[in-house]
Amino acid sequence: MSNSKKSNDKTPKISSLLDTFSVPLLNEKMTAFSRMANVIAEAIFIVDSDGVIEMINPLAAKFFGAPQESLVGQKWFTFLHERYREQYEYLFLNWKNNLDLALNHGPKEVLITRCDNSWLEADLSVSCLPTSITHSAPLFVGVIHNLSKHKAEYSELRRLASTDHLTGLANRHNLEKKLEKSWLECLNNTQPISLILIDVDYFKLFNDQFGHVNGDKCLQRIAKTIQDCLPANDSLAARYGGEEFAVILPRFKSASADIVAKDIQQQINTLTFSDLGLPANFRVSVSQGIATEFGGQFRTTEALICAADTALYRAKADGRNRISISL
Ligand code: GH3
Ligand code: MG
Ligand code: MG
Repeated sequence: MSNSKKSNDKTPKISSLLDTFSVPLLNEKMTAFSRMANVIAEAIFIVDSDGVIEMINPLAAKFFGAPQESLVGQKWFTFLHERYREQYEYLFLNWKNNLDLALNHGPKEVLITRCDNSWLEADLSVSCLPTSITHSAPLFVGVIHNLSKHKAEYSELRRLASTDHLTGLANRHNLEKKLEKSWLECLNNTQPISLILIDVDYFKLFNDQFGHVNGDKCLQRIAKTIQDCLPANDSLAARYGGEEFAVILPRFKSASADIVAKDIQQQINTLTFSDLGLPANFRVSVSQGIATEFGGQFRTTEALICAADTALYRAKADGRNRISISL
């Protein structure tokens, strides 16, 4: 600054000096940036406005699944899953035509297609280094975070949150969500929807006689039997609580639900437990209550559940190991 104060009219202006030195300054800066990017614990790559990779650090190269040297000169879009490729190609085209916007994009979730064709779930941000900084053709910096581990943990947590731990069936929360969804779908399409509530007969006695550990194994077998009897992909078997189960049958009128219930009854009646040390001729049974919504007799899913429960109660009262249909 002190020099510029002393300068007279013939001294070149600062802006023109910058213009003269912009290329070497950029190279110096970019070399320093590349050195830093090579040791940083983030996956970073730099591309030009056509998306051609100018520099990529070891971690980003690992995510793309190829050696650093082989990636330089390639278009980075080719490493995006086709679901995202067009969107980013369009983004770059837009930026190229409107460089003064100096836009940033992301972080957003993308799928990276690695060189071996495997996928990597990642968070990606792309930032434009505007010409006011680079003093040359614009460059873009991409930063990638590997989300695979978090995604796997998240889906495992989701699975655990919707599954009954003992039986592996849907839990009560999942049942209620699915019932609401199926209920609306069926009503909107003028289709029936049936619900079966299933309760193991004399299960307290089972526990008392054979122990809770065997009781748990028995519940697991009953659950698997019910699951195996599901008639369609959109049917759902759930543990309603304790030794009670529920089956949702979208599109099933009560006569069709009755056929499913009869199958469940028969399959459960044939289960044997001699491998658990129980008498060879020992059998278990269940009582079942069916309720069907068709034509608006139940106003809510709760009312449908209540009707199935009342039918189940009747099946118990009538002697157990039987099916009762709500009328
Ligand atoms: P009912 O025919 O009237 O249904 O008789 P029940 O004995 O099956 O009915 P009750 O409600 O008296 O007893 C249910 C039993 O189910 C008592 C409870 O200990 C047992 N139970 C509930 N959940 C589990 C479980 O997760 N594991 C085991 N082993 N037993 C369970
Ligand atoms: Mg019960
Ligand atoms: Mg019971």
